[in-house]
Amino acid sequence: MPKDSESPAFRILKLLRQTADEQEHISGRLNVITKIISKEMHYDSVSCFVMLEDNNFELFASAGYNEDSLHKVSVRQGEGLVGTVAKNCRPLALSDSQSHPKFVTKEKFSEKELKSFLGVPLVSRHKAIGVLIAQTKKKHEFLQTEQETMETLAMFISDIISSDEMSEYKTELIKSRGLMSKDKIRGISLSKGFGLGQAVLHHRRHAVSKIFAEDKEKELDRLTIAHQQMNDDLDSKFNSTKLGLGEHVDILDAYLMFAKDKGWFKKIADNVMGGLTAEAAVERAYEDMWNRLSSTQDGYLKERLHDLRDVSDRLLAYLNGDFGQSAKIAQDSKDIVIIAQTMGPAELMDYDYTKIRGLLLEEGTPTMHVAIVAKALNIPVIVKIKGLYDEVKSGELIALDGNEGYVYLHPSEDTQKRFIAKRQELKQQQEKLAKLKRLPSQTLDGVRIGQYINVGMNFDLDYIESTNCDGIGLYRTEIPFMASNEMPNVEQQIGYYKELMDRAGYRKVIFRCLDVGSDKLLPYWAGLDEENPAIGWRSIRITLDRRAILRKQIHAFIKAAEGKELNVMFPMISNLSEFEEAKETLMLEYEKVKKNTDKLPAKMNVGLMIEVPSVVFQLDEILEQADFVSVGTNDLAQFFFACDRGNPRLSERYDVLSAPFLRLMGTIIKKANKHKVYCSVCGEMASVPVEAFALIGLGYRNLSSSGATYGRVKSMIRTINVAEVEDYMTQLLNSTGKTLRPQIYAYANDHGVEIF
Ligand code: PEP
Ligand code: MG
Repeated sequence: MPKDSESPAFRILKLLRQTADEQEHISGRLNVITKIISKEMHYDSVSCFVMLEDNNFELFASAGYNEDSLHKVSVRQGEGLVGTVAKNCRPLALSDSQSHPKFVTKEKFSEKELKSFLGVPLVSRHKAIGVLIAQTKKKHEFLQTEQETMETLAMFISDIISSDEMSEYKTELIKSRGLMSKDKIRGISLSKGFGLGQAVLHHRRHAVSKIFAEDKEKELDRLTIAHQQMNDDLDSKFNSTKLGLGEHVDILDAYLMFAKDKGWFKKIADNVMGGLTAEAAVERAYEDMWNRLSSTQDGYLKERLHDLRDVSDRLLAYLNGDFGQSAKIAQDSKDIVIIAQTMGPAELMDYDYTKIRGLLLEEGTPTMHVAIVAKALNIPVIVKIKGLYDEVKSGELIALDGNEGYVYLHPSEDTQKRFIAKRQELKQQQEKLAKLKRLPSQTLDGVRIGQYINVGMNFDLDYIESTNCDGIGLYRTEIPFMASNEMPNVEQQIGYYKELMDRAGYRKVIFRCLDVGSDKLLPYWAGLDEENPAIGWRSIRITLDRRAILRKQIHAFIKAAEGKELNVMFPMISNLSEFEEAKETLMLEYEKVKKNTDKLPAKMNVGLMIEVPSVVFQLDEILEQADFVSVGTNDLAQFFFACDRGNPRLSERYDVLSAPFLRLMGTIIKKANKHKVYCSVCGEMASVPVEAFALIGLGYRNLSSSGATYGRVKSMIRTINVAEVEDYMTQLLNSTGKTLRPQIYAYANDHGVEIF
């Protein structure tokens, strides 16, 4: 019989599974669970608090003393003992709870009669979504084993309260209390952050009331003037905007080209000469195009219809003489939230972007250009909020939480204060982190950690200076390919890569070869329509099959890196021969360039990403041939756990901070060190301070994070002692829990490590 089967946790879990399943409703299930735990563990009371909304924890289930108080008691995060457990996301055991400084009594909650307290957090996505507490009447010293049992049971309960069934139950509860007003609306977040400001309805969609014109010539004049004005304004906007960089220009230029397209203007002018008013002529031209393109399967062309709609609406606004009205509403306010049905990227530039605190769209997809531009400007964006445009009036106050995807109409004073505080908090945090810029990424015991950034979008380049990083640990070269309207030619590519090299100066730059396919689609390549794109024809598999693309890109790298060190990295390598094949292509291209010029890189290093688990089992052989490796933990975890990285239903199921994955990561760095091969991590793990902490504890000394989280990672680095962290991680690797995150947070808390 396995040893574990005798443990109280195992025995109670078995009971919970059997008995709880008999209860049809989730509330009944939770109550039964608290009863069983109370009985089996001999506690006078066991209660379960669940986060209902906005960090308020409500009593959902209870056995013993508090059964009458269900749904009548709630605490805020940080309030009282329960709130403290939630806030710190770690257990709290007190034999004399009433002497604890955080102790508060709540009406309807019999804390006074209960002496000892044990609270454990119910965790989901690394955040407390509830608290399980046990209380006793008599003074009781909770043993470590008791706490561990409760923590194991808490995992079981966490799964229940993070289920869809619980979300539905919570929604019902809120509705039944009349609290589910139209004032809090859920959308899909495309860009994180908090915003509070006055609503500005972005005007568009002018209905055309007059179809036929009396005077064709006069109508043509109106059209010509409006068209000219529109183009002049667009030109000056584009020249003055801070967005005048790299791929954003591509996006905006594409839009501008539409506006200036002679064919489009001629079509409208012909319609006018046919007798239509200028407005009706614009609509007719749009409809013609719509009829031709709307049935196409080509995502890129469909996206262009959006652009055409934008330009048409803009021209209609000029014809109506009311263009810029919405911008005027925005003029007097210093904080604005833009609300639109849909929007083109240039329209965002109608507003002073330093005032934009948020963008809300009724429609919207992640690939929408306006979302890409807003993200680049650090503006929170929430999309797919049906009916919002009619719901809100211009000038009304509106708040948005881009982290969770919520929009608050008529925010209460409390909500406003909360949002102001959040923004302030973020600002202060950023100021504090900016001060670290000149300080080394060095631990308390003097270990220097190489800190690099990942870049893709052109605005990421600003982070090179603002972080003062050691270099670019990952340049996702596919991003400019994705933002272009067609496959960039060699000259264009040389331009991108040179710009990056110039900005990086003396710093190391690692170029990753094109990594397309799966969720990274090129607008000019038809969808591949595969059953399993994440494990399909993607990345190096495509470029080895379409060798010319790879050769052209390598050619551009070599040219761009003239006189400098060139680091080329191949993504998604699955075995040694794939790496050899890619490397051979690189060397062939190098020899070809060398025949025609002596303007070559000063040095060339060839490496690969470790993203496919099979590579780890051939690592010794691969490391013999590689100059460097970088671990792509996003894909590596996806394949390791067989867990789609884009599926929100699975995002909480497996944790990179668990022994199996960390052991894998440990194996990689040990082998790299043995072969003296430079090894870094460029997946998300390097961007999340608590995860980066674990990586350092495993032996990693080079991390490449997003520019936005660089300061937070540095702050963690500067507060740790590597020797201690390594010892701690070695111990942790023997734990069998689903996640080691709470333990690492607890360590950080106890050792003054700045993890936030
Ligand atoms: C990764 O997989 O960890 C990685 C860095 O590559 P990407 O996120 O671009 O797939
Ligand atoms: Mg990857």
